[in-house]
Amino acid sequence: MRVAVLSDIHSNLVALQAVLGHVGSVDAVWHLGDIVGYGPDPDGVVARLAEVGAVGVLGNHDAAALGGPEIEWFNPDARAAAEWTRDTITAATRTWLDDLPLRREIGPMTLVHGSPRDPLREYVSSLGVARASLASLTTRYGLHGHTHVPVAFVDAGDSVGVLDARDGTTLALDERTTLLNPGSVGQPRDGDPRAAYLVLDTDDDAVTWHRVRYDVAPVQAAIRAAGLPPRLADRLAVGA
Ligand code: ZN
Repeated sequence: MRVAVLSDIHSNLVALQAVLGHVGSVDAVWHLGDIVGYGPDPDGVVARLAEVGAVGVLGNHDAAALGGPEIEWFNPDARAAAEWTRDTITAATRTWLDDLPLRREIGPMTLVHGSPRDPLREYVSSLGVARASLASLTTRYGLHGHTHVPVAFVDAGDSVGVLDARDGTTLALDERTTLLNPGSVGQPRDGDPRAAYLVLDTDDDAVTWHRVRYDVAPVQAAIRAAGLPPRLADRLAVGA
């Protein structure tokens, strides 16, 4: 089975379409939350994900758009976008988001947005948190997002191996517990503005990371036209 794993799409329909076009035919689409927030097209992204039958989990920006207390931890730009999203989305989008669980187990994979022990808040962005996250997994592998940086953390016994995942990086999955982050479709933050995702091949027991160039200009224009904070448009050009 070939699975496209997408995270942090953030209401960026142009980036999502580019990724779905690039990946071609897959057996499933899984998402790791933060479907909405920051970007200009929450309804379009949810409709497209529903169309391809994507299954996944709730992110902190999705929770904020549903009126959750997560908005209290946001910086001013994220908060303004969350309020705009909350006031903009249709009832159908709201219902689709509201049905998402905080975690999902599919075979040997656990899907969460942030970390296995704190799906809505914790960032797996240090070795200490990675070690604790690997220890708290109840399946062999974990898929997570939230940091918008493509990476893998591998439990190597005495240490944690870190794989800086670039376009074309492949990792063979073995008996070692491993956390996999596809990076962000709609708002990359590793200095590469191209949309990021990964493909899981369950026949070959391997994952491969990909980057896809897309036209950021219409997304930037839509962000400005919606009255969202201009910095949310600017950052798409630099992937930061
Ligand atoms: Zn996010």
